[in-house]
Amino acid sequence: TVRRLAPHSTTIFAEVSQLATRHDAINLGQGFPDTDGPASMIEAAARAMREGHNQYPPGAGVTELRQAIAELERSRTGLVRDPDTEVLVTVGATEAIAGAVVGLVESDDEVVVIEPYYDSYAATIAMAGATRRPARMVLKDGRFRLDVDSLRAAFSPRTRAVLVNTPHNPTGAVLPREDLEQIAALCHEFDAIAISDEVYEHLTFDGIEHVSISTLPGMAERTLRISSAGKMLNCTGWKVGWVTGPADLVAGVRAAKQYMSFTGATPLQLGVAHALQHEQQWIDSLRDGMQARRDQLVDVLTGVGFDLVVGQGTYFLTADPRPLGVTDAAAWCLDLPGRIGVAAVPFAPFTDRFAGEWSHLVRFAFCKRPEVLDEAGRRLQALK
Ligand code: PMP
Ligand code: GLN
Repeated sequence: TVRRLAPHSTTIFAEVSQLATRHDAINLGQGFPDTDGPASMIEAAARAMREGHNQYPPGAGVTELRQAIAELERSRTGLVRDPDTEVLVTVGATEAIAGAVVGLVESDDEVVVIEPYYDSYAATIAMAGATRRPARMVLKDGRFRLDVDSLRAAFSPRTRAVLVNTPHNPTGAVLPREDLEQIAALCHEFDAIAISDEVYEHLTFDGIEHVSISTLPGMAERTLRISSAGKMLNCTGWKVGWVTGPADLVAGVRAAKQYMSFTGATPLQLGVAHALQHEQQWIDSLRDGMQARRDQLVDVLTGVGFDLVVGQGTYFLTADPRPLGVTDAAAWCLDLPGRIGVAAVPFAPFTDRFAGEWSHLVRFAFCKRPEVLDEAGRRLQALK
């Protein structure tokens, strides 16, 4: 492994999921649902295979899907994006993030990230050979918010991009408009772009609305908005994601993507296109079920004695296990699957310069069937 990737050699998700499998544990670590997406989507993909759609799609993705994404974009953000030049289908959001960084950031540029952040951000910045400049979130009135001072300190004349993520993994926080306005103001001041990871855009709870930074004044022309069918349609294993934005920025992602994967899987793209056209109601109803799962896991974890920070989006809850006598959260997470048959991930791999502020926390995923969360609850009782 090259030096610049050595610190990122094995992801925490691979590590924890492997432990979960070995110990037959309930995996509340890696975030993936345990029920399928709409049956009509699966049928559409299977039909596409049977009907001979088994060769490369166009580089930017099948036309039907790019059109459906442009339509989704219009309904979600009001922005009109050209399906040919301003929409790019990628192999999951992961490739969109990597393509954006590798295709648009020079090796002498800096990229601002906000801690805790999704683990692929640091790794892709390292692949680009660029410099990572961490800012952080802070806990204010029981919610994770942006720490504006640290954000300002992280920007410089060399800043090319800021990686924004809302609804936020791992905290579950949904960044309010005011926080996004602060980020946008710095993008304008330093002439930087926003790479906005919105894979949980459809999963906000308690009546809170997701705001995309691309919709703030002057940001449509400097934002790449990234999302994923994996989260929207319970098909994380299909790895169909996308990015939308102004043509000049999307062109950079496309240039990199061509040599990362060239294209994704044609029949799966056709299945997702079908679902975006016909299953909007299914997508909209996902949030109600997920909010109930969140509340169920809140009850379970509170009952066991964790301190919690309950977010208003995503699949994830933040738990502080210190009241249970835990002193090393990372070691505790690696021990947990074998000890009680439940897996969670530590915050540590999502942290950087401010690691000390986060290292006591762990993340639990609640995107599981109610009976599975119940069983996890029974197993967690052993910690009391
Ligand atoms: N960004 C965030 C914040 C995520 O949680 C994930 C994991 N689903 C991804 C990106 C990657 O998404 P995908 O599986 O579509 O590559
Ligand atoms: N996005 C999911 C999570 O945060 C899965 C990540 C992964 O396996 N790379 O748990």
